[in-house]
Amino acid sequence: MQFRALKGMNDLLPGETERWQRLEAAFRRTMELHGYGEVRTPVLEPLELFVRSTGETSEIVEKQMFELERGGERLALRPEGTPGAARAFIGANQHAREPVTRWYYIGPMFRAEQPQRGRYRQFHQAGCELYGDAGPIVDAEMIGMLVEFLSGLGLEKLDVAVNSLGGPTTRTRYREALLAYLEPRSSQLSEHAQRRLRDNPLRILDSKDPRDRAVVADAPSILDVLEGDDRAHFEGLCRALEALGIPYRVDPGLVRGLDYYTRTLFEIQSTQGELGSQNTLVGGGRYDGMLKSLGGPDLPAIGFALGIERLLLALGDTQVPRPRRCFIAPVGERAMLEGLTLARDLRRSGVIVELDARGGSLKSLLRRASNLGSTICLVLGDAELDRGVVQVKELERHTQADVPRDQVVEHVRAALENGAER
Ligand code: ATP
Ligand code: MG
Repeated sequence: MQFRALKGMNDLLPGETERWQRLEAAFRRTMELHGYGEVRTPVLEPLELFVRSTGETSEIVEKQMFELERGGERLALRPEGTPGAARAFIGANQHAREPVTRWYYIGPMFRAEQPQRGRYRQFHQAGCELYGDAGPIVDAEMIGMLVEFLSGLGLEKLDVAVNSLGGPTTRTRYREALLAYLEPRSSQLSEHAQRRLRDNPLRILDSKDPRDRAVVADAPSILDVLEGDDRAHFEGLCRALEALGIPYRVDPGLVRGLDYYTRTLFEIQSTQGELGSQNTLVGGGRYDGMLKSLGGPDLPAIGFALGIERLLLALGDTQVPRPRRCFIAPVGERAMLEGLTLARDLRRSGVIVELDARGGSLKSLLRRASNLGSTICLVLGDAELDRGVVQVKELERHTQADVPRDQVVEHVRAALENGAER
């Protein structure tokens, strides 16, 4: 019997994981630059945590959770990172240690979705949470950090959408205005939206059903009912984004699927690469009431989550810069031991080396070196051994030279550094 990975869950093999590591390293660098520390929380949490934070009527809790029971306790594989981080923040009494906390995470999330390109059942998010600052300056700083990160990776066509959901009072007022508009038109809505009318009418704005989209097109805008501090907060966000020179779009229809959001909401999409319709890379927003509702301190918070698979799809095959590497091609029996020690010496000085000691022909070895994307191929045969040299082929530059054995390590290092991009 042969086993397969579960539907929508993928193995990542060397070659592919390398791109992931590069991306994760770049993300970690960005987060450190902005004063964030890494938090690692369990993948399994009490199911109730997600019900209480992500929300009973959210798509995630309604339909997408991987649930299990153990010792009479209901558990769920985390569908997103924010609730677990909030639980950890509260449990560690973190707010007593510092007034503002910046945490980031990278890890797998689980949602029982219909798998397709850019949508999986186990997928990975890189995200962050900032606790203790009500914004709006940090809101803009966070969006700016994302735009710098994504454009630094080479993404050009970014679409930054922002909106505000206001606080609880605005929400209630808007809910009423929306209901007054939607109820007389309820027969034109999808069945799902008709149910939403009772428990969570805002989510109808998020619906992808064409019937709902048609009705919602002329619905009142939340920005029209935004008043007082909520309005000042949103205007402050817009001003700060302008100060940073970030092109953005105000989208009053942006509500996003999670129930806990307040005030600032944002999404970043890319029209680049192989994303197709799954083109939202990042979703984020403020959740000022969540910590308190989970039994923690009454502190404001904001965060985002970025889909790593989608980001890699947007970047395409070539664009995540990869480290340059060296391939060693020993030809003939005598060359094997020399290849082995040369590989060790190069690795000691930090060069990534692949030694192919299977005893293939020079032609097949060179083909393999080039398939692996090696920058340099070192050829060792009887002729080279007799003369105490190594033949150094620079595959990208199409040059070759014989270099004395005792100078090879330095030569290869210098050659890799000279050609190093980024
Ligand atoms: P969508 O509307 O595409 O379902 P979402 O609103 O459910 O997205 P969030 O919960 O905000 O997504 O998650 C943030 C990011 O995580 C998304 O923008 C996306 O890049 C990624 N993401 C979410 N769900 C998946 C999934 N099933 N597979 C791969 N990536 C995902
Ligand atoms: Mg979703």
